[in-house]
Amino acid sequence: MARLVGKTALVTAAGQGIGRAAALAMAQQGARVIATDINEQTLASLADQGLETRVLNVRDPKAVAAAAADIGAVDVLFNCAGFVANGTILDCDEAEWDASFDLNVKAMYRMNKAFLPAMIAAGGGSIINMASVVSGLIAAPNRFVYGATKAAVIGMTKAIAADFITKGIRCNAICPGTVDTPSLQDRMRATGDYDAARAAFLARQPTGKLASAEDIAGLIVFLASDESAFVTGVAHVIDGGWSNT
Ligand code: NAD
Repeated sequence: MARLVGKTALVTAAGQGIGRAAALAMAQQGARVIATDINEQTLASLADQGLETRVLNVRDPKAVAAAAADIGAVDVLFNCAGFVANGTILDCDEAEWDASFDLNVKAMYRMNKAFLPAMIAAGGGSIINMASVVSGLIAAPNRFVYGATKAAVIGMTKAIAADFITKGIRCNAICPGTVDTPSLQDRMRATGDYDAARAAFLARQPTGKLASAEDIAGLIVFLASDESAFVTGVAHVIDGGWSNT
């Protein structure tokens, strides 16, 4: 039986990768899905598959406020938008720090703050915030500002969970390992030695394979559904054993 019948789910960064897989998986489970992204073309292909779509740049406060006003209460809010910046602290200038924190953290704060009031008024819902196992859990070389932003996501998630648990709001973070998505492919190509980059990514995964976006979508469906009614304030690791080795 479909697990999300009667629920409305909004997904950011739904155009490709984990957001797309999650949007499609939630729709398959009977949810009304509002797939949002900055990329109109990738959204169009989701519209072709029957999903509602909306262009939404989560870095734009006016656009986020307008989306929250238009859409009202959702049962599930999956904040997926984020960016991986490479380098150590010595490579990270203030502009890069600000850009990473603006997308990975501030935009998520903005989305949560904009959609929470209607969710509370409707009796509750499930918020799922995209972190990473590279966060407050483990470090990866050359992921200085990325890890800092994703640690902040976990802190934000736990704070929201604690503050709104009595209002029916659950708030969880997900912490994937290495997921084979378009941006990961781009990052491997950008090194100039695709095969070596892929081998390095695989070497940190004890399963010997990368996660697929669909592997991660299964956890999102669970957190979106009432099966996880007693689960809140948790950073859910889904990393193929990376952080356990
Ligand atoms: P991706 O990086 O391939 O795609 C990102 C999507 O975000 C694109 O569709 C893009 O158009 C959209 N986007 C970019 N800026 C946006 C903005 N300002 N507003 C709205 N949408 C915007 O997808 P991915 O690799 O699945 O990554 C998605 C999330 O998962 C990110 O937060 C990332 O940090 C996190 N994550 C990814 C991995 C991985 O290995 N791929 C691992 C852990 C966590």
